[in-house]
Amino acid sequence: MENLAAVKELLASPKRVAIVTHFKPDADALGSSLGLAGYLRKKGHEVTVITPSDYPDFLAWMPGHEGVIALTKTNPEPGRKAAALLATVDILFCLDFSSLNRIHELGQKVQESKAVKIMVDHHQEPEDFAAFRFWDVQSASTAGLIFELIDLLGEKALIDIPIATCLYAGLMTDTGGFRHNNTRHKEFLIASELVARGASPHDIAKNVYETNTLERLRITGYALYEKLVVLAPYRTAYIALSAKELKKFNAQTGDLEGLVNYGLSIRGIKMAVLLYDRQEEIKLSFRSLGGFSVAELARVHFEGGGHHNAAGGTSKESLEKTVEKFLHLLPRYQEALNK
Ligand code: 5GP
Ligand code: MN
Repeated sequence: MENLAAVKELLASPKRVAIVTHFKPDADALGSSLGLAGYLRKKGHEVTVITPSDYPDFLAWMPGHEGVIALTKTNPEPGRKAAALLATVDILFCLDFSSLNRIHELGQKVQESKAVKIMVDHHQEPEDFAAFRFWDVQSASTAGLIFELIDLLGEKALIDIPIATCLYAGLMTDTGGFRHNNTRHKEFLIASELVARGASPHDIAKNVYETNTLERLRITGYALYEKLVVLAPYRTAYIALSAKELKKFNAQTGDLEGLVNYGLSIRGIKMAVLLYDRQEEIKLSFRSLGGFSVAELARVHFEGGGHHNAAGGTSKESLEKTVEKFLHLLPRYQEALNK
């Protein structure tokens, strides 16, 4: 990281710190945030983690999650608390995102904050809003970057079981259980260090992947049986779910996580997409194999971005219009998808 010495100096005396991560945080977003929070607290800092929305139930076991300030549409109180903190903290960490639209209404508050901002992230094309950044697109996870940062600060010894557990959870999920093509030797080295410090691969995998509700399995079954569309000429598979369908299955935050990957598991498929109506906007999830960049597709057409083979975006139009727009784009990419 550039200016490591300055960051070290900044953290040398107790400070008031806020950590913000992205809307609908996944295990990497929440795990990196809670892992960093645990470390900073051990250093004597006063730390609060803020999320712009709620987070999935299957993350509600992570050490320290009870203290998170999670904004909700129904109760203005957490939003007020978060705004007051952002306006007064000394240091503001931004983890697992690098474009301010990913934190919705908190974006403006972060921009206006006088705190020293430190971004730690691994997504493509970061915006320039932080004084310091520890940014690496090669890294599979932000949690892994937090481990590296603690290591660079010379303080690996402070990593205890709760910190190791949170960081391992982020590393595990962002590599798809060490299966995605972002899994390098380094991810295993970091995993090994975390396991050495008490992270339990089995317990963490069990907590994240095997605590489904029956509803979640049912909506997965419905989506695969009734809604999965394969477009062979474009080597593309997609699923579109309306707000009505989500309601019918009582879908909760996180219930659709991982669903997009089923499309990509079909032989010959190069791109899989999940589109769903989460009321305030249409959310799109993209996955691809090989040379086809879904980050670019998401960036150019759906106000999004992410990684080469895993990206996301949003649309303010209706679900039908968004699906239509997506389908109209495909001929343009036919050649690239058939390479
Ligand atoms: P997912 O499809 O699992 O929500 O996200 C896939 C990847 O794309 C993740 O790394 C995620 O952080 C990123 N991503 C998801 N949605 C958006 C978005 O709206 N904008 C940007 N820039 N990245 C996104
Ligand atoms: Mn991540």
